[in-house]
Amino acid sequence: MNKVRIAGIIPESIVDGPGIRMTIFTQGCIHHCKGCHNPETHPLNGGRFVNIYDILDDIKSNPLLDGVTFSGGEPFLQSKELSLLGKEIKALGLDIITYTGYTFEEIVTGIDKHKYWKELLNITDILIDGKYKEDSRSLLLKFRGSKNQRIIDVKKSLKTNMLKIVEF
Ligand code: SF4
Repeated sequence: MNKVRIAGIIPESIVDGPGIRMTIFTQGCIHHCKGCHNPETHPLNGGRFVNIYDILDDIKSNPLLDGVTFSGGEPFLQSKELSLLGKEIKALGLDIITYTGYTFEEIVTGIDKHKYWKELLNITDILIDGKYKEDSRSLLLKFRGSKNQRIIDVKKSLKTNMLKIVEF
């Protein structure tokens, strides 16, 4: 399917990663972190469907963009659609940040069960992982809500055969 279920899109954001980025808030999340800032993104059947090629047209029409951020919701629930979109985004020379409530370790362990998780990981430059934990919340953190979440260099981590997690 060429459609992704989204809660919304911010055409230009400076808070969801370095530079100017389009942020796509995917719809649907199973993590239910206490204190989540985007509870409206949780229902799996909420939001609206958007064709990924329409999103791509919007990305192409903005020469100011440095990259695209997949946020949520839980992007890995739509790994097939996002990896397809991600490949097109990478072909434009833009980088991709993916937020997830899963840990990097959980994703790596789940690759055998979930066909497209590896593909989404492969097109992701930076993974910001882990649930939002209210008791570890800090306003001083860049691009993250709580201290347990990590900013992971996916390419470098994959190069170690996922034996080592390389953080920024
Ligand atoms: S993973 Fe993100 S969207 Fe999902 S409940 Fe946690 S903070 Fe909210």
